[in-house]
Amino acid sequence: MKPVLQKSFDKQLFLDNVKRHLTSTYATTQEHATKRSWYLAMSRALSELTTLDLLETEQDEHILQAKSVNYLSLEFLIGRLTGNNLLNMGIIEMIREAMSELGQDLSDLLEEERDPSLGNGGLGRLAACFMDSLAAQEFPAVGYGLHYEYGLFKQSFSEGHQQEAPDAWCGVEGYPWEVARPELAQEIGFYGHVKTEQVNGREVRRWIPGMTVKGMPWDIPVVGYKSNTVYPLRLWECQAIAPFSLESFNNGNYFEAQHALIDAGNITKVLYPNDNHEKGKTLRLMQQYFHSAASIRDIIRRHELAGHAIEDLPKFETIQLNDTHPAIAIPELMRILLDEKGMNWSEAWKISSQTFAYTNHTLLPEALETWDEALILRLLPRHMEIIYDINHRFLQEVRTQWPGDVTKQQKLSIIQEGFHRMVRMANLCVVGSYAVNGVAAMHSELVKRDLFPEFHELYPDRLLNVTNGITPRRWLQYCNPDLSDLITSKIGDSWPVALDELSALKALADDSDFQHEFMAVKKANKVRLAEWVKEHLDIELNTDAIFDVQIKRLHEYKRQHLNLLHILSLYYRLTENPQFEMAPRVFIFAAKAAPGYYLAKEIIYAINMIAEKINHDPKVNEKLKIVFIPDYRVSMAEIIIPATDVSEQISTAGKEASGTGNMKMALNGALTIGTMDGANVEIREEVGDENIYIFGLEVDDVEKLKASGYNPYDYYNADPLLKASLDLLLGDTFTPGHPGKLRTIYESLLDGGDPYLVLADFASYVEAQSKVDQQYRDQTGWAKKAILNTALVGKFSSDRSIRDYVDNIWKLKQVKR
Ligand SMILES: *Cc1c(COP(=O)(O)O)cnc(C)c1O
Repeated sequence: MKPVLQKSFDKQLFLDNVKRHLTSTYATTQEHATKRSWYLAMSRALSELTTLDLLETEQDEHILQAKSVNYLSLEFLIGRLTGNNLLNMGIIEMIREAMSELGQDLSDLLEEERDPSLGNGGLGRLAACFMDSLAAQEFPAVGYGLHYEYGLFKQSFSEGHQQEAPDAWCGVEGYPWEVARPELAQEIGFYGHVKTEQVNGREVRRWIPGMTVKGMPWDIPVVGYKSNTVYPLRLWECQAIAPFSLESFNNGNYFEAQHALIDAGNITKVLYPNDNHEKGKTLRLMQQYFHSAASIRDIIRRHELAGHAIEDLPKFETIQLNDTHPAIAIPELMRILLDEKGMNWSEAWKISSQTFAYTNHTLLPEALETWDEALILRLLPRHMEIIYDINHRFLQEVRTQWPGDVTKQQKLSIIQEGFHRMVRMANLCVVGSYAVNGVAAMHSELVKRDLFPEFHELYPDRLLNVTNGITPRRWLQYCNPDLSDLITSKIGDSWPVALDELSALKALADDSDFQHEFMAVKKANKVRLAEWVKEHLDIELNTDAIFDVQIKRLHEYKRQHLNLLHILSLYYRLTENPQFEMAPRVFIFAAKAAPGYYLAKEIIYAINMIAEKINHDPKVNEKLKIVFIPDYRVSMAEIIIPATDVSEQISTAGKEASGTGNMKMALNGALTIGTMDGANVEIREEVGDENIYIFGLEVDDVEKLKASGYNPYDYYNADPLLKASLDLLLGDTFTPGHPGKLRTIYESLLDGGDPYLVLADFASYVEAQSKVDQQYRDQTGWAKKAILNTALVGKFSSDRSIRDYVDNIWKLKQVKR
């Protein structure tokens, strides 16, 4: 590791560049510049440095001759870049000092950056952490995504209800960290027909698209940790090819031509706001194909530019599909190899099937993508032909393995038969990839056991596990500087690139001085969050209270309503029983609901109304406070996570594939209360059963209960506390004068059948929560557990995840620069 940037940093040159951008890029003077202009000018000056390194990395002969991973994802939830890039570049203090010479406070300027929210939640954030870890460890990589004009909607509340507003993250001035690469633009077709041509006496299929758009790449630098390595995150923006048709401009069809321009511009207008839920909209499939086609062409361009033969593609490039969203890249590569490179099927398939690998992120049926065959046929006629061909050959393999077994064929077929024939994208990915991985040990086992058992039989080496991770640079070093300094003072400063070294803190878990220092940092972070809440929401928080945090997308399977029922049970007990003892608690929520997800929005409304009542009720508000922080995003997570005492990870067992919020909070010294689900299982393995609060049904229990005919009324009628808590939703306690406004949740949990077994887990959850309460009253014991959480979760660094991918799937070599 050579921190060349640090040594070669020229302060005067940097200051001159900032001033130059202030005037020539942002048209203002030092006297009149706003904080925003200063932030923009500073970031532009910094991005010039990273752009140079990006171009040098791109042209580095060692990288051109090495194998690269291409990470294809429709989402990259990168969060703010300026502060994090400064940290990775190793120049944060130098820039702080330089900007102060201009009369500017760096921390203030960093607050001016709007989060690029180009993702929904965990899946998009994982892609961002993986890019950080690839660059930090110098494994050659390119991230390919979409340059949405509007990222995930901005959330606010109006009388407790979620309001959505568009998020034009680039701002009118443009985003300072990105650089356009017009020389790398691609043309992408849609619709049209397929014809057969004779080429050298061979029949070749050729697709004649009916509409063509331009893919314009924007590069965002992914900065290596204290190295000069910068890899691109390449985001494609869809633009109309202008003039769309000169002829139509001239022959009077001007308005039609304009219409086509507007359509083309729409493809990357907006990120679909669904998390773990897919509904087959044409524009979404257009986004997927646009993303895949532009990326595949760019990969082949780079491969050929480096002087490699197309037959050697799998030797130099591997393509990781982040979920099935980019699955159409498989028939697209096949199309290029067959129709444009003139290969025969077996040559083309050999290359393609050795190039792709696929990550499965969910078992939820509503999240597994299927596309209407008729839609693909219309939008991408040649790709549908290729999918038929892939399926035809694959089903022959199935028939060889299981002669005469029609059920197996129906189950494994890429095409789902029925009135509307559908294409199963997950099946296409498993057939077309050399490796398929789940995202946590338990999830990967369920992929083998429940989702793809026949595939596992057919291809016993294909299904693997790579447990997710988080980058310790952003999620500890950057967001929790006080804890980072404390850790560094005890164990040195290499833990950010070797997170297992945190285990050395284990020896200090009983050290009373260290316990006090550790808890003082936690307290300071709670004060920082409380100040944010006071300033933005005007709610006063007791920073001695337990900060109990559930921050994640709003989803029934994540069970925010189980958390809410526990709060209602505390409220009930506090109001009914003056003797009831509990440590004061602040419940913190943050969550966006998909705009079309009715019940999720009702849960947000209920939390807000219950918060409103409880926070103003003097009978309980010394003990209970509820805060729903609006507009959950990466920069908000960076403030909440370091202040967390209790991390809520309470999904129905078997439903959360991994979770990564669980890792972020444990790393920052929070104790988890959680089910045996996703990576919670592995967190428990690492920290030990006495340092985590596990409750509830396990996967097998869930299955048995459902099979035996689960009736939520059995629990409701048998448990007076549960009944009392639920019944609070019926009257007008929380919606004065409007009884029944919280009924929807009540009904979904009773007559609605409670599909996520909230009632079945209630008693066990309440019991675990009372243990948390008991433990918090013993601060020494709590400090020890908190320290052990930080000390023992080194496994969950995304550096380790990337090494697992490299060793078991991608087979890359580091290229140190
Ligand atoms: C980490 C993160 C997530 C994922 O949280 P889970 O609890 O794993 O669902 C979602 N959104 C943001 C902004 C995050 O930082």
